[in-house]
Amino acid sequence: MAEGKLIVFSAPSGSGKTTIVQYLLAQEELNLDFSISCTSRDPRGDEQHGREYYFITLKDFKQHIKQGDFLEWEEVYRDNFYGTLKSEIERIWATGKNVIFDIDVVGGLRIKKKFPDQTLAVFVKPPSVDELKRRLKKRKTESEERINMRIAKASVELATAPQFDYTIKNHDLQTALDEAKNLVGHFIENGHAQTKTK
Ligand code: 5GP
Repeated sequence: MAEGKLIVFSAPSGSGKTTIVQYLLAQEELNLDFSISCTSRDPRGDEQHGREYYFITLKDFKQHIKQGDFLEWEEVYRDNFYGTLKSEIERIWATGKNVIFDIDVVGGLRIKKKFPDQTLAVFVKPPSVDELKRRLKKRKTESEERINMRIAKASVELATAPQFDYTIKNHDLQTALDEAKNLVGHFIENGHAQTKTK
């Protein structure tokens, strides 16, 4: 099987990485396909099984762990498990595409460590923690308690930025989208990231 590239986007929840990943997926020349993760959390809003995530029970998730089916997995929030199935990457590579991940910082760095040369690991930095809070509240899909849980985690996640190949600051969305597109396009063509920003 021909192995393609792995493009990892990691960031605190609410920093805009999902918007960036969706934009990149729409750029045909990048030849990307989305790595659909498994999660034990419930669907939010109009999320669909097999599109945003494979929504599975905690019991099935633990079974996959036991069987060694995951490339990586994390209990990102208490009782909310997320993981990338090895079969998902194989499925995408078999179609000749590159894989793009929207994944937490620990999982992202784990993939970079497993496939150092094939992976571009990008961290998306929100303007500030206050702005993150505002964005999460605006989303209106989660309880106050869950939002606070995500914000508490954000500071820990922000500290991991220097371990990534590249950091995109998402102050202005269009600028961040352009930067992401250039960065990924360059990596796919040349096999290495342009310059590091911290
Ligand atoms: P959400 O519940 O907002 O969809 O995702 C919560 C966090 O889990 C986000 O940071 C998301 O990127 C991350 N995540 C999604 N899929 C995976 C995965 O397969 N593995 C890991 N480690 N994190 C994931």
